[in-house]
Amino acid sequence: MKIIDIIKNTKPVFSFEFFPPKTQEGMISLFKTISKLEKINPSFVSITYGAMGTTRKRTLELVEKIRKDLSCEIMAHLTCIGSTKDEISSILNRLKNLGVSNILALRGDYPEGYSPDKTEDFPHATNLVKFIKDRDDFCIGIAGYPDCHKECLSLEEDIRYLRKKVDLGADFIITQLFFHNEHYFSFIEKASKEGISQPILPGIMPITSYNQIKKFQMMCGCKIESPLKEQLEKYRDNPSGLRKFGIDYATQQCKALLSSGVPGIHFYTLNRSEATHYIWENLTG
Ligand code: FAD
Repeated sequence: MKIIDIIKNTKPVFSFEFFPPKTQEGMISLFKTISKLEKINPSFVSITYGAMGTTRKRTLELVEKIRKDLSCEIMAHLTCIGSTKDEISSILNRLKNLGVSNILALRGDYPEGYSPDKTEDFPHATNLVKFIKDRDDFCIGIAGYPDCHKECLSLEEDIRYLRKKVDLGADFIITQLFFHNEHYFSFIEKASKEGISQPILPGIMPITSYNQIKKFQMMCGCKIESPLKEQLEKYRDNPSGLRKFGIDYATQQCKALLSSGVPGIHFYTLNRSEATHYIWENLTG
């Protein structure tokens, strides 16, 4: 089923993002996570894909296994940077044969030392959205950035590119993780002024570790402002306190988002079920 139809018919949608594990043990543990979260009846689950096709085999294997063993709807992420049209075509064929109807069309981060040149088939996600749309009938999701994409000089410019992706056929948007709801609200207001009417699902990641959140902040460019910044420092050497704080913080974030009428919540689960499960219980219990 197409996610855009799920979004239209389900209020609110809850979706969970997983990454393909590197080892067999990781795969077993992920399936435990997925079967716990499956009880929540997620609207869909999404499977990440490494930039430059680095997880291609594992992503496709995981998608295939979920299709076979579980009943939840799937969205496959697909990054295009460094890929040729033939490579992308063959992945799209494979996904179609697996019965996947939904793709999150992404450029992917540049690996260290990589400089794209004029011969790239897919310099941006816009190219991928157009390629998929011209070729197939997938439902297409794209990425949006309430804190602005780290390479872009202004949120306004970033949103103009978001509009391009929408004009080329994207059906819905999922945001990068963010910790300040006012950034999301300002983002959707600016997107709406730019003429974007597609649903924008907020992406939420509960903070469960100090070092991990610092790493994500660097990788994703998400902002952590006062008083959250000081609160994180307070829990720096208190992992269990930080975990509890992180779950409470994400719960409050989700409550406020849901009561403002967002179409749903996309959870960055990091392949673990506990934090997401607690939040969901807090929201629905
Ligand atoms: P683009 O839309 O191409 O944007 C990248 C930059 O270029 C932005 O600064 C934008 O303003 C600018 N830009 C956009 N279009 C144009 C244009 N036509 N001309 C000039 N400039 C332009 N990464 C992974 O590797 N694997 C994943 O599975 C993955 N999943 C993600 C899921 C979500 C929900 C999100 C929000 C991000 C995910 N990412 C993933 C990270 C993503 O790949 C990076 O943020 C990447 O740097 C940008 O991807 P994009 O699709 O937003 O690129």
